[in-house]
Amino acid sequence: MRKKIIAGNWKMNKLIGDAVELASALKAKVADRTDVEVVVCPTFTALKSVGDVVAGSQVKLGSQNMHWEKDGAFTGEISADMLRDTGCQYVILGHSERRQFFGETDAGVNRKVKVALTANLTPIVCVGETLEEREANKTEDVVTTQVTKSLAGLDETSFRRIVVAYEPVWAIGTGRTASPAQAQEVHALIRKVLSKMCNPGAAQAVRIQYGGSMKPANAKELMAQPDIDGGLIGGAALDAASFLAIVDAAV
Ligand code: PEP
Repeated sequence: MRKKIIAGNWKMNKLIGDAVELASALKAKVADRTDVEVVVCPTFTALKSVGDVVAGSQVKLGSQNMHWEKDGAFTGEISADMLRDTGCQYVILGHSERRQFFGETDAGVNRKVKVALTANLTPIVCVGETLEEREANKTEDVVTTQVTKSLAGLDETSFRRIVVAYEPVWAIGTGRTASPAQAQEVHALIRKVLSKMCNPGAAQAVRIQYGGSMKPANAKELMAQPDIDGGLIGGAALDAASFLAIVDAAV
């Protein structure tokens, strides 16, 4: 039985004070929840402060990105060890906004996934098609390629540790959600691809989150699908009540 995982991607929002306030509210409300994993991913500048707030609690800390090198002359970048240093246990990799605005590729994501695993961070690896690709019936090809290339070369232990997030780009921040059936179809495809890359047992262990305008109103139905193991939440994660309602919908 896969434990559902709800992660909040706060993107480029919230100064340290607001981030700490939100994290404190979440920590208090999920203090006894062991039936669902809860992760918050603030901006780099708020990581340490939020990390201090949630340390030892049921709320886990994640980052929205990292660099693939250990250290060195990479101005403006943050390494896996630096993330660990703030208390991070998770890192979102290959988010569509990183791919779209910062030129991230599957090959780069693959390097980061391997480095994250070595540093004992759990990568949340994002994949998903654009509206244009969906309308051209390319969803299966696009998602298969992203999964195959982003997760190339992992061993079985690594496969069992990763989280995949299916995030149709057309549903992110648009208020337009994939229907439960549309999402389930792609989640099942991803599990099939994982099964071929590793083995069916490991593929069954991988948590696959849905992301794209998940809200309290649609979360339950989406997460009732057999291959949807949680959510990666953007807009609705910025407010404690709506994020907590999604956490409740997971179980
Ligand atoms: C995201 O960016 O990961 C996301 C799912 O955003 P939203 O929930 O706002 O669509």
